[in-house]
Amino acid sequence: MTTIILLGPPGAGKGTQARRLVEARGVVQLSTGDMLREAQASGTEMGKRVADVMARGELVTDEIVIGLIREKLSAGLAGGFIFDGFPRTLAQADALEALLAEMGLGLDAVIEMRVDDKALVARITARATCDGCGEVYNDITKPIPTDGQCTICGGTTFKRRADDNEDSLRQRLMEYYKKTSPLIGYYHAKGQLQAVDGLGEIDAVAKAIADILGQAKS
Ligand code: ADP
Ligand code: ZN
Repeated sequence: MTTIILLGPPGAGKGTQARRLVEARGVVQLSTGDMLREAQASGTEMGKRVADVMARGELVTDEIVIGLIREKLSAGLAGGFIFDGFPRTLAQADALEALLAEMGLGLDAVIEMRVDDKALVARITARATCDGCGEVYNDITKPIPTDGQCTICGGTTFKRRADDNEDSLRQRLMEYYKKTSPLIGYYHAKGQLQAVDGLGEIDAVAKAIADILGQAKS
């Protein structure tokens, strides 16, 4: 049973590493960003309500995202959970602690992925995701294959996110520094924070995370 939080600015690589951890450890990825995009794609009331907020790069209310997480957690125990993009505020962190305590769970590790702002802009404006399987590509570092087929699932259609443009990214970064970065101090004070350099190659970052989790209780 492993419970992990990946913390870091937009574009730090949380989603990419979360997917690796799902494969390696059989944990369930809980990404509030993915859940909110799914709500939009399926056209729910809530999905419609959050669309503009997300496109602008602002945070959705604590109430909505905590509700989403509560729902997923109550669906039952998996081999563990990896939180990606949640918590993003101190109120969310408190809510998560209470939800986990109800399930008799604690946190094994909070991993901060450090990446400088310049790299984030370059990464995010070059990002595309496979419609079929969600694999993340990047025009510069990991281009979509020249035959136009996803290396994982063979899919041929790819999506760019509505909020992956420079204006909205600037807003997302501002939200991160104002509302989410205080969580770094919060988890540090609780003795749960560990940091990795998120600028390295995907494999190198995955190795750094595996090293940390190797030491954490499981
Ligand atoms: P990124 O980390 O690349 O910005 P995400 O997919 O995690 O992307 O989130 C996209 C958007 O979804 C955020 O900009 C925000 O509007 C909303 N969102 C996701 N998770 C949360 C959360 N925990 N609290 C509030 N808003 C959230
Ligand atoms: Zn694919």
